[in-house]
Amino acid sequence: MSDEVLLQVENLQTGYGDLQVVRDVSVTVRAGEITVLLGRNGAGKTTTLRAITGLNRVTAGEVRYLGETITSVPSHARVSRGMSYVQEGKRIFRELTIEQNLLLGGFSTGERKKKLQQHVAEIYDLFAILGEKRHLPASSMSGGQQQMLAIGQALMARPKLLILDEPSQGLAPVVVKEVLERIHALKATGIGILLVEQDVQDSVAIADEVSVVEMGRTVLTGPAEEITFGQIQAAYFGTA
Ligand code: ATP
Repeated sequence: MSDEVLLQVENLQTGYGDLQVVRDVSVTVRAGEITVLLGRNGAGKTTTLRAITGLNRVTAGEVRYLGETITSVPSHARVSRGMSYVQEGKRIFRELTIEQNLLLGGFSTGERKKKLQQHVAEIYDLFAILGEKRHLPASSMSGGQQQMLAIGQALMARPKLLILDEPSQGLAPVVVKEVLERIHALKATGIGILLVEQDVQDSVAIADEVSVVEMGRTVLTGPAEEITFGQIQAAYFGTA
């Protein structure tokens, strides 16, 4: 287990206007590790991610990133400090090629083309299928491959912390396993990953840390190896 805490969210409160959706959520992500954030539909997972990335205003609690409180730092400044967010649904440019999509993902780094090409090659090492299809339009790929492209595009920004909202959404079970395996392989690059998932079994299998949110509150949190499936189920259904 790594000791470097990248992200520490404590007693987060956030919502939409006057509507408070997240009441008390705490999450930790360490470098080289995966934290999985679980919970039923509408529990407040996406809203939590939106507050972490600066898209929703934090009304109480704290978001600490790389040792600093960033609760009121604007979203774009969080991106330039190495926070990369892949939102729900695959936000790729369908008519552009896979390679063009990746290059666009690296645009914000301001690096020269040669350096960007090097980073693209690293993405092809991680996701071989993207390299094989690099000159094809993104629309020609399957759902799982498009998800890998969305992740590859986010990685092009050279993040320290990668935040993924339901990458398995809409994918067939066998493809979910493949996408989660690829996400697991990213740990070796040393980045920290915060993963929101619906697929409890497969996501907990790749997690270092697990947090369950129910009605806007963290009801269970701890190292994946110490948390049982029964505890997760109880937390989901409010009987923990
Ligand atoms: P899901 O798995 O369905 O995405 P979630 O745990 O990510 O669930 P959120 O998307 O964070 O849940 O939604 C939590 C609550 O906030 C829900 O009741 C939802 O209706 C509400 N909500 C989400 N987006 C908005 C919005 N833009 N304006 C107002 N309320 C919203």
